[in-house]
Amino acid sequence: MGWADTSDLIPRGWTCGYCGNRVGGTSGYYRNSFDPYPMSGAFDESMIYICPHCEKPTAFLVSDNGAVEQVPGPMEGSSVRGLPETVSALYDEIRKCVQVGSYTAAVLASRKMLMHLAVGSGAKPGMTFSQYVSYLDEAHYIPPNGREWVDEIRKRSNEQNHEIVLATREDAAQLLDFIEMLLRFAYEFPARVRRK
Ligand SMILES: [Zn+2]
Repeated sequence: MGWADTSDLIPRGWTCGYCGNRVGGTSGYYRNSFDPYPMSGAFDESMIYICPHCEKPTAFLVSDNGAVEQVPGPMEGSSVRGLPETVSALYDEIRKCVQVGSYTAAVLASRKMLMHLAVGSGAKPGMTFSQYVSYLDEAHYIPPNGREWVDEIRKRSNEQNHEIVLATREDAAQLLDFIEMLLRFAYEFPARVRRK
């Protein structure tokens, strides 16, 4: 299922926001009255490239000051293998939230994920978020040098539970990193060992 009437464009490399692969593309669309293949090889016009891996379109929008914005941008975090379907879907949602700048939604979904992981590893349902994080820590899901991280996450969660406090990019990215590590630890590595 290809795209109709694509043109050859200047070869361009990018990290695809859909499939997450680092790809190189030469096919897509350009605007009327523009030479898509100038001798200079400059990317000074907006263009749409088709990902050679997943075949989805990514726009590179050039603003008046020459800055280029990739839409959709690369997804934040890395993919983790061996995840159950619902965990995988929630993890993808968190990554997409961070990708588009919905940091508060990312933080809330991240907390949901941490609670799910804690209950999955034996914690009782109905505990507070902070208790769940302590549980993961006590159950040795968190490496010794992750302690500072955990304290920070717990501290911030207390502030944000009952009022609306908008999360920053830093809050969301930190939680995403933390979750990626926990998921590798809880699902990916055990699955790799079983395969051997
Ligand atoms: Zn792709």
